[in-house]
Amino acid sequence: MFRSRSLPTALVLLLCCSYVARASADPHHASYLKAKQLVEHTIATLASTNGSFVYTRERHRFYHSPKPWQTIDRQMRGRFMLVDAGSGLFVADTMLLHDKKFPSYQYLDRKTFADIDYGDTTAGASTTDDRDDFLYQSSIFTPRLVLQDFLRSAESRFFKFVSGKTASILYVAAGDRHITIVIDPATSLVSTIDVMYADDMLGDVVRRVEYLLYDSSGRSRYPSHVEERTFGILMNDLRIKRETIRADSTLIVARIPTGYNLAPPAAKAKPVITSTRYNEHIYFFELQPAATRVLLVNFKDYLLIAEAPLSAENGELILTKAHELFPKKQIKYFLFGHHHPWYLGGVRALVHAGVTILSQPQDTNYIRQLVTFTHHLHPDLLEKEPRALRLQTFDSTIEIGDDKVLMQILPIGAMSQHTDDYLMYYFPKYKLLFEDDLIGISKDKPLRAASIRQKGLYDGIKMYGLDVDTIVQSWPVDTTSETIVPFANLEESVRLIKK
Ligand SMILES: [Zn+2]
Repeated sequence: MFRSRSLPTALVLLLCCSYVARASADPHHASYLKAKQLVEHTIATLASTNGSFVYTRERHRFYHSPKPWQTIDRQMRGRFMLVDAGSGLFVADTMLLHDKKFPSYQYLDRKTFADIDYGDTTAGASTTDDRDDFLYQSSIFTPRLVLQDFLRSAESRFFKFVSGKTASILYVAAGDRHITIVIDPATSLVSTIDVMYADDMLGDVVRRVEYLLYDSSGRSRYPSHVEERTFGILMNDLRIKRETIRADSTLIVARIPTGYNLAPPAAKAKPVITSTRYNEHIYFFELQPAATRVLLVNFKDYLLIAEAPLSAENGELILTKAHELFPKKQIKYFLFGHHHPWYLGGVRALVHAGVTILSQPQDTNYIRQLVTFTHHLHPDLLEKEPRALRLQTFDSTIEIGDDKVLMQILPIGAMSQHTDDYLMYYFPKYKLLFEDDLIGISKDKPLRAASIRQKGLYDGIKMYGLDVDTIVQSWPVDTTSETIVPFANLEESVRLIKK
């Protein structure tokens, strides 16, 4: 991992006083100049600035899938061309879905960025973060914009240049992205671009764009087969061809309203936690802006926490709140209702605190990944102070309890119509059921027929023959969704399903 260099003060003063001697005296500056030279040469090798291209692309994206790491796959095709003397890019990307076409347009030049999303007709309000995302994502079409970004970046953002059989240039780009450009010095062509960024749950994520084939039939070269991978999983596969007709950027440019400006990125809201006592044994913590309700069960000798949304930071807040309420009690178990980030994203904080993670066997690999992924860019407590994972598995109903309170952990899996690892928690004494996100009942609209997920929950309750009065849901705790639901309402919504 690389960090910004810090030069001793005396050396900085010396450098200021003897600027002329700098290139030879400072190996960092010398390698920066070499890297710049190679990048300039690489840009010159690429297709001329008025190149226009057509492509087909297979796009894969992670989604809230039944199992971890599954992707949703789409066929796309489109065209792109360089604009603003090669400093910008116009992309017309069309999604093909169920015999329908959903066009989208993006336009980036030195002054602005505009984005018309799939199927939309007007440019959405974009932020400077959206522009940066597009710039670094544009490497799936051409490495040129990232190469130029490096040339524009201050020398202080340059980290190092490693040259051998291949040449690697490392620099820190906008949004604290750490970028590695690998160039083959023999051909002056880019072989890969890695963009590493920090994700709250997954840690240091690397998007690797690989240029597998270059077309050299014309005077200049361009990548004709490009693949992008994240965690080794294929995210994009593009086949690119040059075309003679220029693409029509007025499709978006003409629709940019006068006075259109990029907005600053939305400030990241600081997480807030509040606690509610349901009864002596059951507490709920509400975390915003994650909109997630966490369950704390106060057993005679220890505590159990279920759900920890999105980040280790949230996990730490939950632990602090639990200690505040019960300073003398050990937090023994952590449980998650399914593997999605709103319930498992904070697991690293609990592992760091020595809490035993309860999991079904199907999720243990994923938990091990979350616990071992590096978090160098934004270190959390587990990164700074690694601790062994305590993991206990179960593959059928289990009960946790004492003579005061009993909790049943009931797998319903794919019956949830949501994930394969779905759990419900049931407290027989209180006729209380806790689940994550299967109910979608609106606070201010009349009750509607149950969705397939809602029906799945109902079927699960019936399968176990539970006597339920109240269902408490973890997410989304917001102003419009009902998350404390009388069982009678769930039953009524099932009755409304047309036979
Ligand atoms: Zn979910």
